[in-house]
This record gives sequence, C-alpha cells and structure tokens, in this order.
Amino acid sequence: MTRLTLDRLEKRYGAMLAVDQISLDIPSGEMVVLLGPSGCGKTTTLRMIAGFIEASGGDVLLDGQSILDLPPYRREMGLVFQSYALFPHMTVARNIAFGLEMRNTPRAAASQRVQEMLRLTRLERLADRFPRQLSGGQQQRVALARALAIHPRVLLLDEPLSNLDASLRAEVGRDIRLMQRAAGLTTIMVTHDQDEAMAMADRLVVLRDGRVEQSGTQEDLYERPATPFVASFIGRSTMLEGTLADGTVGVESARLALAGRYAGTGACTLALRPERLRLNGAGAGRVDGVVELASYLGPVRDHLVRIAPERHLLVREPTAAAGRLHDAGDTVTVTWDVAAERVFDQAGAPQAELS
Ligand code: ATP
Repeated sequence: MTRLTLDRLEKRYGAMLAVDQISLDIPSGEMVVLLGPSGCGKTTTLRMIAGFIEASGGDVLLDGQSILDLPPYRREMGLVFQSYALFPHMTVARNIAFGLEMRNTPRAAASQRVQEMLRLTRLERLADRFPRQLSGGQQQRVALARALAIHPRVLLLDEPLSNLDASLRAEVGRDIRLMQRAAGLTTIMVTHDQDEAMAMADRLVVLRDGRVEQSGTQEDLYERPATPFVASFIGRSTMLEGTLADGTVGVESARLALAGRYAGTGACTLALRPERLRLNGAGAGRVDGVVELASYLGPVRDHLVRIAPERHLLVREPTAAAGRLHDAGDTVTVTWDVAAERVFDQAGAPQAELS
C-alpha cells in the first residue's frame, strides 16, 4: 500500500523546461495515466520517478518519504517499457526470476513467486521458451510478470502497448489493468494514445509543454474540458473560432445558435462533439449547412456538413437512430443540445453556462 506524490517536480535542459513543476498525488492502488502529445514531458517525468534521470527541482515521495536520493534499484519500482527489454538469452522463467535473484531471494521462495507470476500472466506453458519464441503480446506479459515479481511498491508503465498490433492492444491493456487491480498496485502509465488512456486509467493527467493542462476522471475531461487543447485531445471535437454575441457564434458567413446561454461576448472558440450532433433533430443548438460527404460505417453514419465555404462540421449518428444517410448536396440543419458544446474565451478559459 503506497501513496506516490510528485511535488513540483521539474527538469531543465539548459534553458528548456522539459517538466515544469508537476504536482500529483496518487493514492494507494490508483492507476494514473499521463497523456499528452510527443515532447510534452511524459517520459522524462516517469524516468525521474524511476531514478534514471535526475530531477532539477521538486520532489518524489513514497508515503511521504522523499526517494530522490535513492538509486533506481532501491526505489522498489516495477518497470515496463515499450521495448520489452527482456534478456534474450534467458528463458521466460529466468527473466521473471531476474529481479528476485538480484535481491538474493532464497531459491524456494523465488521459484514459488515465479510460478505465481506465470499463472497470473497465463504464461505457464511458455516458461521454458526464450523471448524470440514469443509473440509481442506474450513478451509484454513476461515484462509485466518480471516487474510484478519483486512486489514493487509502484508500477511504472511507459507506452507498454505501443509495439503491439492494434488487435492485441486492447487485450493486453485489459490484462494489465486486471493484474494491476488484483495486485492493488499504485501505477503510473505514460501514453500518447487517448483511447488507451481512457480505457485503462482511474484518473488521467493531460500534459502539455511540461505542465499539467488538466487532470481528472475520463468523464471530467470529456464532459468538462478546461481548455480548447483538452477538448480536442480527449475525444474528438470540431473547433471553430468565431465571435460570441446574443447566444450565437458567428464563424465566417455561418451563424451558429448555441444551446446554452453564456455570459461573455467577443472572440471565442466553440468546441462541438461530432457524436452529439444530429441532422434535422431537436435541440436548441443549430446551424444550417450542406452535406458534402456521407459515409455508412456500421455502428455509425458520418456526415461532413459544410456550414461556410471553408468550415465543416462532422456529425456522427448511431445508425440505429432515426434519420438516414443523406446525399451530397442535401440541405440540412445540424442540431444539438447543451452537452455537445463548450465555449472558450479568447484566453482559452471555458465560459460558464448561465442557468
Ligand atoms: P514522446 O511521446 O515523444 O516520448 P514525451 O512526452 O515522453 O514524448 P519527453 O521525452 O519527456 O517527451 O521530452 C520532453 C522534452 O524534453 C522534449 O521537448 C524533448 O526534446 C526534451 N528532452 C528530452 N530529453 C532531453 C535531453 N537529454 N536533452 C535535451 N532535451 C531533452
């Protein structure tokens, strides 16, 4: 049972702040996912926690005790990185036993722990194989078993699914999540893939330029994005820059009627969720347009609707819902209610809805 705290953690490379005062408190057993585009500082943060990169400022604490002075091997962390980094000349069982041997675990106890890990990761039948004789998903399960074998206080996962085929990702992701839950392990995972992050996290931390842009549950970030960046990074949003006045947003030649009422006026960014828009539906939010592309995709049908010469809205409706696939050139009204829209002022702050 371990609580992990980052207190204004910082990394400078010359004048560049790769990690800019990140503070996080992760209660015991929680899985937090650090999410953000390439270069936002995810890996640097994780490596400072593991002890492979020295922090320039701030602190990392386990149960309130700073661990910054400890070398990596004394931090009691289980690590799984994107390249599985298994020892190629060792069998699966020996790979899993490696950390235990390094810690001089008595032979019988080590062997029992290896068996437990083989069972947990469903690798029993592969114990005597070498890494090159395993699939990518199996190799990643060995890496996970090796990380868990030492009873780490914290588990650190750096893009653990990125070398796997799309079809395997969801499966290995679920495996990791189930094992993390079963072990009750405090965990930080790093990824740039928002679907992966949404599927696996208890809580998400969106990073941008070395800073925490927003943190919260999946629902917090999806329903109440704090910035235009989060609105476009978590789920998909069509972002429209325009001018807010009298309950409408003017975007080039189009005028969009908003579903909610907002206090501000002037330059704004309107974020609209494609899957919450409808064609010719109810809802006080609305704008007229012309269908430019229509696609039937099985579970959903997509319409790309032109609302101004250079402006389009994507509308994604369940195929089970009323309506039909329109033809290009059809005139339609895109409609929505308040949960589909988010209005940000010029500084990127969300506009409160007036009740
Ligand atoms: P990715 O998803 O591409 O791995 P990331 O979010 O993990 O990206 P980091 O690897 O943490 O990003 O890098 C954060 C920033 O720090 C980047 O701008 C990177 O160029 C810079 N950086 C990382 N390591 C060094 C270094 N050794 N020297 C100088 N700059 C560095």
